[in-house]
Amino acid sequence: MSSEIRKVGIIGAGQMGNGIAQVCAGSGFEVMMHDISAERINAGLATINGNIARLIAKGAMDETGRQNLLNLIQPAPLLEDLDSCDIIIEAATENEEVKKQIFVNLCKAIGPRAIIASNTSSISITRLASVTDRPERFLGIHFMNPVPRMQLVELIRGIATEDGTFEVAKTFVDKLGKTVTVAEDFPAFIVNRILLPMINEAIYTLYEGVGSVDAIDTAMRLGANHPMGPLQLADFIGLDTCLSVMQVLHEGLADSKYRPCPLLVKYVEAGWLGRKTKRGFYDYRGEVPVPTR
Ligand code: NAD
Repeated sequence: MSSEIRKVGIIGAGQMGNGIAQVCAGSGFEVMMHDISAERINAGLATINGNIARLIAKGAMDETGRQNLLNLIQPAPLLEDLDSCDIIIEAATENEEVKKQIFVNLCKAIGPRAIIASNTSSISITRLASVTDRPERFLGIHFMNPVPRMQLVELIRGIATEDGTFEVAKTFVDKLGKTVTVAEDFPAFIVNRILLPMINEAIYTLYEGVGSVDAIDTAMRLGANHPMGPLQLADFIGLDTCLSVMQVLHEGLADSKYRPCPLLVKYVEAGWLGRKTKRGFYDYRGEVPVPTR
């Protein structure tokens, strides 16, 4: 197995895929970006461009750096285009069936060489690996949001993941300048096993009328010294992703303490998914975010 990663494929050009692409290209890796349509890929590339423009405005990057970074990221309209990649990181919607279908199609579209990874927040790596033709060369590489700013990456082995695969992935993450923690393959791993029940409890606190959105977020920022309130953070993560993680915890651990709050379900049913749709626990359509409850 080649231990050298030079080219990274990314499936899903949403907020995580964009961030992963930016960080990989920023560390000198070639990147290929795939999504369900050319429009989505272009929207992802435009977001990366905007993020880099902010870095330039802050003096954290110059025009040459920007050109070098952008030149390393190429669109990949077809899964076949990812065949030349050494590792492929799936960062599509947090839905097990969607991800499994992607992996089935991907394995048909590419040769046996690449390591395949999922950026899933919660879904079993062993189950995802089982639909591929290479469970021994499959693992979880879980980046945090926003990827350029967050230091941690969780690495998760599936039951079949070979040590060599894990070592290549660890070296790759080290080259991105990130810190690795290792989590076992149980629902939501470490960070989200702890973080999402806290967010879900904040939503119950709102649902039961204990406090308003503003009161809950202010309480946790100033009373627990969290940099963001839990409802602000939920909007930032995406309420669909939050709900999916709670469902995986609830089903996977069969414990009622992980029951998703009905108010979270209602927001997702309304299509109020947080920042990415401009409405969630806050309304982001104006100059400043306004609580929606
Ligand atoms: P997002 O909604 O911003 O982006 C998801 C992208 O996947 C969209 O562009 C969508 O078009 C694409 N997609 C959907 N189906 C696809 C398919 N069949 N083929 C190709 N692309 C497809 O979501 P996100 O927040 O970027 O989350 C992506 C993944 O990262 C999820 O697994 C999520 O759990 C995980 N994650 C999210 C966070 C977070 O804070 N949002 C943090 C860590 C990990």
